Amino acid sequence: MRQALISDIHGNLEALQAVLADIQDQSVERIVCLGDIVGYGPNPCQCLDLVMKRCQLTILGNHDQAALFDPEGFNPVALRAIYWTRDELDRGPGPGTVINGRWDFLSELPKFHQDGDVLYVHGSPRDATNEYVFPETIYDQARMKVLFDKVTRLSFQGHTHMPGVFTTDGEFIAPEDTDYEFPLSDEKLMINVGSVGQPRDEDPRSCYAIMDDKDESVTFRRVEYDIETTIKKIYNIGDLDDMLGDRLRGGR
Ligand code: ZN
Repeated sequence: MRQALISDIHGNLEALQAVLADIQDQSVERIVCLGDIVGYGPNPCQCLDLVMKRCQLTILGNHDQAALFDPEGFNPVALRAIYWTRDELDRGPGPGTVINGRWDFLSELPKFHQDGDVLYVHGSPRDATNEYVFPETIYDQARMKVLFDKVTRLSFQGHTHMPGVFTTDGEFIAPEDTDYEFPLSDEKLMINVGSVGQPRDEDPRSCYAIMDDKDESVTFRRVEYDIETTIKKIYNIGDLDDMLGDRLRGGR
């Protein structure tokens, strides 16, 4: 199977639209979303609608969970953004509708999904929603072992907004280029697919991955989008800190 893996959209509609357009040309059989559809960005409802329509499998992210329940460990900027996001979702799809399908969709998202020897999570194989596996986590060998013990062969994850591949011999391999292909084998790997809506690896372009079972590869793709339009929207919403726009320019 050839599938696209997207994550950490964070209400960035321009980025999501650009990535979905790019996926259109990749002849994939399905799109998997690893969570954090909302939070930080100015278009949570529109992003949810697109994910509901286009993704065949979606995993719950910590910001999606925070919109549903009480946020845990959020800084003041993230907290204000998530309360604003909640209000946006509460406004519903429009007059005359009783049921808000977006809330239903969010509340039914699974925390993880295991498909044969492939695991899909937002955070880590141990804590599917909240644990961060950063590039520097490789130096904590004990923790890496615990994490890899939970992986049958592949774990696809997001959450850190830092794309790359973790190997069992303690390496983190970051994609070097726009179309970076990493070979798959029987080897266990944890693969972070990066972020669509708020990349933090100093490359402001949206990031996502394509996994191909037949080619035995994972390819990281980078996609340009209209960053300034997203930033302008953020500036115009009082509850979204200007910094949430500024950081998009540098991919921080
Ligand atoms: Zn995120």
